[in-house]
Amino acid sequence: MIGGGQLARMTHQAAIALGQTLRVLAVTPDDSAAQVTPDVVIGSHDDIDALRRAAVGADAFTFDHEHVPTEMLEKLIAEGVNVAPPPSALIHAQDKLVMRRRLEALGAPVPRFAAVTSVSDVDDFAGGTDSRLVLKAARGGYDGRGVVLARDTAHAREAAAEYLAAGVEVLIEEKVEMRRELAALVARSPFGQGAAWPVVHTVQRDGICVEVIAPAPDLDDDLAGAAGGLALRLADELGVVGLLAVELFETVDGGLLVNELAMRPHNSGHWTMDGARTSQFEQHLRAVLDYPLGDTSPIAPVTVMANVIGAQDIPKMSMDERLHHLFGRLPEAKVHLYGKGERPGRKIGHVNVLGSAGGSPDDAAYVADVRERAVRAAHWLSHAEWTDGWSSHR
Ligand code: ADP
Repeated sequence: MIGGGQLARMTHQAAIALGQTLRVLAVTPDDSAAQVTPDVVIGSHDDIDALRRAAVGADAFTFDHEHVPTEMLEKLIAEGVNVAPPPSALIHAQDKLVMRRRLEALGAPVPRFAAVTSVSDVDDFAGGTDSRLVLKAARGGYDGRGVVLARDTAHAREAAAEYLAAGVEVLIEEKVEMRRELAALVARSPFGQGAAWPVVHTVQRDGICVEVIAPAPDLDDDLAGAAGGLALRLADELGVVGLLAVELFETVDGGLLVNELAMRPHNSGHWTMDGARTSQFEQHLRAVLDYPLGDTSPIAPVTVMANVIGAQDIPKMSMDERLHHLFGRLPEAKVHLYGKGERPGRKIGHVNVLGSAGGSPDDAAYVADVRERAVRAAHWLSHAEWTDGWSSHR
């Protein structure tokens, strides 16, 4: 797996149970995954020799991020490496303009968009109205970096000028009026088998996914079917091998638009580690190794994942002590820490909480209770403060 982040770390966890060793290409021995797998190659994802060293003897060559240049992957394929997903698919997770164009050609719903090669393209797109616009770098963005939600057309023009001056390829989109963000996660094996988990609701704060509710509460059955069906169809049409996450907007009028694609384990699938029969990490391995895929059914009526995000003021209390307190108060919380140092705004772990049997994703009070516990647990781990003001010393 290329990249030694938390996704590789959790994929290794799944690999252990399958009797596999996940070799990772990590930048440093301290990387999240490099700390836990015995098979580490140190090097950069854009150094062909490092990629070659990582590929020696591997059954499959896969990714924990989308940044490996496709030309290098083509070279590896020519040398006999089994690259999964192949670069012909991966390009749609690397370049938002390529992705938007391809999806449009496939008849998938996308926000209105255009390529921007000069500032006047912004005005042409806005068409004289002060529309709500979004500027995006075609490549290299993640967690909201490289996305500008413009206040007005003048702001959009400024942002476009800045990107263009920096030599960055840009696209412009309408700002979608949305009810919420959803994600459809599926896997596809080279044999052509597909499997989908229930569609989830993803909650973002400052461009970062902070909470996932699985399945998405109060989601219309037809819309859920359409989202899952679309993700399976895209996995097929794009020739994905492994996981495909389709990030979606549910529009205020009840439609769906595709925002982004990812071809790797995804934040929206962390709930599956405890909340589904097969986790996304195991499924990714099954898919790239061309095993039959696992059962994706959920274990609880609702599972909520809350990310542990590094606090502005890092608590003095050690993480070990925070865990101790958390488990004392919420024994049901399933904690996954990434072995990363605490820095403000950095994802350092997540917590999964499963709702008890008999509940329903359409029962607002039930969902609110599971969410509250997951968020309370994650917030405690980040801040060493209880959201409800509870104190063990009282
Ligand atoms: P990244 O690649 O950094 O994850 P995204 O394209 O997913 O960037 O955008 C980050 C966030 O910005 C989205 O999750 C969404 O909240 C918001 N966003 C992106 N595009 C639009 C749009 N066209 N309309 C409204 N909000 C958008």
